[in-house]
Amino acid sequence: MKEKQTHSIPLESTCKITDEICLPDTKLPRVVIVGGGFAGLALVEKLKHKEVQVVLLDKNNFHQFQPLLYQVATSALEPDSIVFPFRKQINGYKNVFFRLAEVEEIQPDSNTILTNKGSISYDYLVLATGTTTNFFGMDSVAENSLGMKDIRDSLNIRHMM
Ligand SMILES: Cc1cc2nc3c(=O)[nH]c(=O)nc-3n(C[C@H](O)[C@H](O)[C@H](O)COP(=O)(O)OP(=O)(O)OC[C@H]3O[C@@H](n4cnc5c(N)ncnc54)[C@H](O)[C@@H]3O)c2cc1C
Repeated sequence: MKEKQTHSIPLESTCKITDEICLPDTKLPRVVIVGGGFAGLALVEKLKHKEVQVVLLDKNNFHQFQPLLYQVATSALEPDSIVFPFRKQINGYKNVFFRLAEVEEIQPDSNTILTNKGSISYDYLVLATGTTTNFFGMDSVAENSLGMKDIRDSLNIRHMM
């Protein structure tokens, strides 16, 4: 049976240096978007089919619909109702590539991003990494409470009940 092709360009086409994130060669400007939340995905939608190479990086391979996290925490919804794989979302967007990687450092002098999967260069960089929970300086609350920012947090709360 013929294997279904999920990428328009073979992954190995430009894998020359092992500590670089592998991407197809292009003469187009490269826009790297870090974070596939509402902000990052909205930009992907604007840039799809435009004359740029878009690279979406996220430390998870799925988008999370945060407004419904509480529904998962309270068992009203299952996790797969509120998380969506990025690769499914961008399927058919020939100029958009997703790479699963956590950004660790940005070197603006050389337009380089360092991740846990290797480095990547950019022409334009968009940071859409969201926020962290603010405990307003209350250390005891930070230590003794459960956050609810992502699906893991929701499942932790669910398992506590
Ligand atoms: C429980 C809850 C309920 C909410 N309800 C509502 C509501 O009813 N209405 C409303 O308007 N808003 C609501 N919000 C707020 C709304 O969800 C956020 O404002 C919105 O999700 C922010 O989008 P974002 O793209 O900026 O960030 P996020 O959605 O947080 O996305 C950030 C992305 O960046 C990725 N990322 C972070 N750091 C790195 C890194 N170093 N390397 C790679 N990737 C990284 C993350 O994995 C994530 O995918 C709610 C939020 C929460 C937590």
